[in-house]
Amino acid sequence: MPDVFADLVGQDEAVDTLRRAAAAAAAVLRAAHHPVPAAVGPGSATTDDQDAYADEAEADGGPGAGADPGAGMTHAWIFTGPPGSGRSVAARAFAAALQCVHGTGCGECPGCHTTLTGTHADVRLVVPEGLSIGVGEMRALVLRAASTPSGGRWQVVVIEDADRLTEAAGNALLKAIEEPPPRTVFLLCAPSTHPDDVSVTIRSRCRVVPLRQPPAAAVAEVLVRRDGIAPDVAQWAAAAAQGHVGRARRLARDPEARKRRDAVLAVPRRLTGVGTALDAASALIEAAEAEAEASVAEADAAERAALQTALGAGGTGRGAAGAMRGAAGQLKDLEKRQKSRATRAQRDALDRALVDLAGFYRDALTMALRAPVAPVHTDTAALAEAGARKWDAEGALRRLEAVLECRAAIEANVKPRIAVEAMMLSLWRG
Ligand SMILES: [Zn+2]
Repeated sequence: MPDVFADLVGQDEAVDTLRRAAAAAAAVLRAAHHPVPAAVGPGSATTDDQDAYADEAEADGGPGAGADPGAGMTHAWIFTGPPGSGRSVAARAFAAALQCVHGTGCGECPGCHTTLTGTHADVRLVVPEGLSIGVGEMRALVLRAASTPSGGRWQVVVIEDADRLTEAAGNALLKAIEEPPPRTVFLLCAPSTHPDDVSVTIRSRCRVVPLRQPPAAAVAEVLVRRDGIAPDVAQWAAAAAQGHVGRARRLARDPEARKRRDAVLAVPRRLTGVGTALDAASALIEAAEAEAEASVAEADAAERAALQTALGAGGTGRGAAGAMRGAAGQLKDLEKRQKSRATRAQRDALDRALVDLAGFYRDALTMALRAPVAPVHTDTAALAEAGARKWDAEGALRRLEAVLECRAAIEANVKPRIAVEAMMLSLWRG
């Protein structure tokens, strides 16, 4: 029977840690509900749960629940790993395991089920749609997280992309993590524990669960098993997605995604001069814009309609003028949020294209070096081989670096068009 951790591909070590922690958390709840008589003095029935797992460091390598019911559990966690490695999958699975009423993430009970479908009353999920998570959102979240769990277990807060917290939002979160309510658990997801991603003070209060880039074979296996994809397609997609599970699934199932990838991988052979390089840059930017627009259009329209319906209930009586001003403000807020989401969708789409392109030049490099590794893009291997002969290892490396520099520049807020044009010119010149 697949439990809540079944979708965490190639992360045996992390799953082990999380299972132990979930078992320890369940033991904390049992101890709170049924205190061991010998250990109970007058008035100590209201055991402080924090004390129960205060000594977690010692239990890390230990056999799990022993004399200390809380060993292995703590109230703040950071899941790190490259994009697509399953950070948020791991955090959600762990949240489900904490709410599981049968065991430690059976996958079938109401606790597991409602957590995984996003309807559990004691699990809050923050998925930033825009480029950052603001302080207002974080304060509201921290406030709600402090309430007693209605299901009698844990209040769990999952923050995807914790690296997108604004400084003020990070401080609001830090306060909550420093003085955690007894039954609240914070699960943060971030690319790494580098200070650029997570502040040092937050990091110091959390236990880190590092996820690795899952091997292509493990990704292919899950595509076959769970999504019913043909083995040969699964293998190709898993390699082409470079360990990104969601990307692999999309490539295997979505013809549009494959078409976009084909267009990106056609770039290297089209670069024959300044003109074609600039054309290729325009095409890449415009493709990212179109992809992003398609991905947010539906949500944008639905939100606007919902807001208009809500505002339409306004009326014309006293206070209507104030209501109109309020409406204008809400509409402006919505537009701002949607713009931020669109910008992010564009950057994500562009980044996917750059990762594909980097894979191509990495293939050329490994071929020039005659390194015994499988190519990322099996379908353009011949082209990469030709590139390897023409450019040699150094030329392939310079091109790979140009792509990686472009990613870094966009990350550092250089205008995408400028960064991509510079990259295309470098790829052409070599
Ligand atoms: Zn369960």
